[in-house]
Amino acid sequence: MALKLYNTLTKQLEPFISRDGRSAGMYTCGPTVYNYAHIGNFRAYLSADVAKRALGYFGYEVHHVMNLTDVDDKTIRDSQAAGRTLEEFTTFYADEFKQDSARLAILPPERYTRAVEHIGEMVALIETLIEKGHAYKSEDGSVYFKISSDPAYGQLSHVAKTEQLENAAGRIVSDEYEKDNASDFALWKAWDESDGDVFWETSLGKGRPGWHIECSAMSMKYLGHSFDIHTGGVDLIFPHHENEIAQSECATGEKFVRYWLHNEWVMVEGKKMSKSAGNFTTLRTIEERGIDPMAYRLLVLMSHYRSPLNFTWEALTAAATSLARIKAAITTLKEEAVYASEVVPASDQAYEERFRDALSDDLNTAQALAVLQDLLKDKNLSPVTRIATAFNFDRVLGLGLASIVSENIPEEISKIIEQRELARTEKDWTKSDELRIELESMGYEVKDTTEGSVVSRRL
Ligand code: AMP
Ligand code: ZN
Repeated sequence: MALKLYNTLTKQLEPFISRDGRSAGMYTCGPTVYNYAHIGNFRAYLSADVAKRALGYFGYEVHHVMNLTDVDDKTIRDSQAAGRTLEEFTTFYADEFKQDSARLAILPPERYTRAVEHIGEMVALIETLIEKGHAYKSEDGSVYFKISSDPAYGQLSHVAKTEQLENAAGRIVSDEYEKDNASDFALWKAWDESDGDVFWETSLGKGRPGWHIECSAMSMKYLGHSFDIHTGGVDLIFPHHENEIAQSECATGEKFVRYWLHNEWVMVEGKKMSKSAGNFTTLRTIEERGIDPMAYRLLVLMSHYRSPLNFTWEALTAAATSLARIKAAITTLKEEAVYASEVVPASDQAYEERFRDALSDDLNTAQALAVLQDLLKDKNLSPVTRIATAFNFDRVLGLGLASIVSENIPEEISKIIEQRELARTEKDWTKSDELRIELESMGYEVKDTTEGSVVSRRL
């Protein structure tokens, strides 16, 4: 059963066929690090996480890159207001973002890329666009992408391309704008006073990059001119992703991305959750209310990533209860199960197939969770087989079931087991071997199967 994904570019459910048949290059537009990410933002990263884990489950070696937007209109504005340097300011929120991601069991990308560390690549890309006639310098020294030079502009968002004026009226300088003004957009912004000490002296003059060029330059640097999957929330389709395609394809002449995946919004009382609307919730608030952040992970998995998710505290509390039930079921099974070091349980193939079917249907996590629930209740299967199968499902669901399986094991050992499971999911075999040796030196035996690993005290 092939993995099928809904591709925004073709507006169709398509079987995923990777470029080389064995690996998947994937880029996720990461956070703008000017504040704490809210749980709406985290839906985007949770959706990407599930896609990435599912690709791993289907046997692909995933190369995942995520940027950190640390220079744009918002980071400059707010770092100045806070009286901190751009670097100090954005590093703080980038670290918070990584910690919050870990609390939601979002696997880190193979590489986080910071925009400020790739200015050279952005300038080179802009130079190429100027040489090829796709970009021009304005009176103030800023550089704009000329959308009339790109016949394919609009291929993702189907935005109406109106007659473009190459004067100030036909251009847009800000990073974010609405669909009804598809305009020449800034690739490079000439320095002005409002930028303060944020600028680079380059062949394009003194200034800073626009937001859109950042993602083109960084994704292509690490994943190549053409790669498999690009993810983000639906609000990024236009202008950000449309502009990324235009910049990249006009510069290289090659197809930029083959599959575009977009998650729908988290809503609050009918409105998109956003910083600007002030209706946002962070993981901190969730924890302050005594709720495990992992309940939010489950809540997100309970709906399809392409459907809007209405956030309420009742729904989150219900998800926390469901998570507790799943964990309790695993604990009970564990008590019933008999572990011996020579027993290597295999997971149940029929359930595996149902689980794969659910995922293959455009990552239907709600259905995948229903399969997990059925499995946990199925008395026809031995407790050990149920545990082994659930354990394997958790490589995609990421609910932390591995640590419950090893509940009677001291916490320091559970931590190592968890780290090792992460390393295995990331195919970091060196680390996983090191951790296995560490476990063995502490008196625990580790058995790995293709379906997962079982840890037991040495007899
Ligand atoms: P930003 O930090 O604003 O660039 O947003 C980071 C990611 O969060 C992007 O992929 C956005 O599309 C996504 N996003 C922002 N708000 C929401 C929301 N309310 N629901 C789901 N995704 C969102
Ligand atoms: Zn981006």
